[in-house]
Amino acid sequence: MTVTGTSEGPFGWIGAERDRLRGAGLERGLRPRTADEADAGPLDLAGNDYLGLSRHPEVVAAATGAARRWGAGATGSRLVSGSTTLHAELEAELAEFTGFENALVFSSGYAANLAALTALAGRDALIVSDAANHASLIDGCRLSRAAVAVAPHADPWAVAGALAGRAPGVRRALAVSDTVFSVDGNAAPLPALAAAARAHGAALVLDDAHGFGVVGEGGRGAVHAAGLAGAADVVATVTLSKALGAQGGAVLGPAPVIAHLVSTARTFVFDTGLAPAAAGAALGALRLLRREPERAARAGEAARLLHGRLTAAGLAAARPDAAVVSVRAPSPGAAVRWAADCRRAGLAVGCFRPPSVPDGVSRLRLSARADLAAGELARAAGIVVATAPREAVDGGAVRESPA
Ligand code: PMP
Repeated sequence: MTVTGTSEGPFGWIGAERDRLRGAGLERGLRPRTADEADAGPLDLAGNDYLGLSRHPEVVAAATGAARRWGAGATGSRLVSGSTTLHAELEAELAEFTGFENALVFSSGYAANLAALTALAGRDALIVSDAANHASLIDGCRLSRAAVAVAPHADPWAVAGALAGRAPGVRRALAVSDTVFSVDGNAAPLPALAAAARAHGAALVLDDAHGFGVVGEGGRGAVHAAGLAGAADVVATVTLSKALGAQGGAVLGPAPVIAHLVSTARTFVFDTGLAPAAAGAALGALRLLRREPERAARAGEAARLLHGRLTAAGLAAARPDAAVVSVRAPSPGAAVRWAADCRRAGLAVGCFRPPSVPDGVSRLRLSARADLAAGELARAAGIVVATAPREAVDGGAVRESPA
C-alpha cells in the first residue's frame, strides 16, 4: 500500500505535532539571509558576532588563505588525516591566550562540550549542572551516563550540597556551568562555584562560549578573569563562532586531560577535523584581537549602552555581564511579532522561546557589537523600544506567567 497523506504512515504523527507547536507560537522556520541583506540589510544584533570580526577583511583573508593552502575540507578525522600544523598552531595560541596548558580544537563548540563531559564523566560519576546551562552541556551530561543533579540557577551553595550528598559509589564528581549564560547574559558566580567544587574534590567544567573574546583582560575570557585558567582542576570550553567570528570550538585544560580527550572523546575521534578555512579564520581573528585588545572592552560597553537605553524606557532587560542583552517578552507569540516588527524597522534581533528558555519566559536577545558606533547602538535600542508591545513596558512582561 502506498501512503500519500501526511496524517498516515510512520511520520503521520508529525502533522499533529507541528499543529501543536504552531498553536503554541513555537514552530520554527528558516529565513535565509540574502547576500544583499548581508551587505545592506537590517542592523544585525541577532548573531553572536560580538567583535564584528566575521566579515573583517583580515579574518576573511585568513580563511581564504587557509583554504588555498590546505584545501576546502580537513579530509578526515584529526587522528587519521585531518590534523594540520594550522590546527596545532591554533591550539597553541588558544591555550596561551586563555592561560591554559593545552587546547584541543573541535568542529564546533557543541562537539567540544560533548567531548569534555563524556570523556571526563562516566557511569561512576556525578555531574552537578546549573539549571540554565546551554543545551550542549545538558546533552553532554546525558551522553556521559553519569548521575546528573540539576542545581538551581547560579546557586553555588546548592552545588556544594549536591556534591556533598553524593552516593558512596560515585568515584568522580564534576560541577558544570556556563560562565556567561546564553539567554540572559548574566555571569555565573565563578569564585564561589570553584570554592564549592574544591571543597568537595570535584572538577570544574566551564563553558566560556560567551565570555571568551569579550570578558577579562583583552578578552581572555571569564575563566581567566576569575583566576581559574590553568588550574589543575579546571577545564574550559570555548566556541570559535562567536567573538572570533569563525566556526569551531575548543576544550582547554591541563595536558593530561587534553591527551585523554584525544584518545577517548567520541566527538573528536569520530568527527572530521575542523575545516582549514575555519581554523585559519579563528587564528586570524585571535591574532587581530591580541593586537587590538580594546575590541573586547568595547563589546561590553556596547552592551551596557543598549541595556541603559532599554531599561530607561521601562523594558525588563537583564544587566549584561558580557555582550548579551536580553529583554523579556509577554508571550512566545508577542516575542515573534516584536522581533518581526524590529526587522521591518531595520533591526535583526534574536527571539528565544521555550524550550530554549527553560523558565518558559520568551525574550528578545540582542548581541552587542564592538564594531558599532554609539549612534548605531542608540538607533537599535530606539527600534526595540518603539516596537515594544504595551505589556512589555514597566514590568508587564515580568508578571506574565510562564507559557
Ligand atoms: N555553549 C554555549 C553557551 C553556546 O551559546 C553555544 C552556541 N549557541 C555553544 C556552546 C555551542 O557552540 P557552537 O555554536 O560553536 O557549536
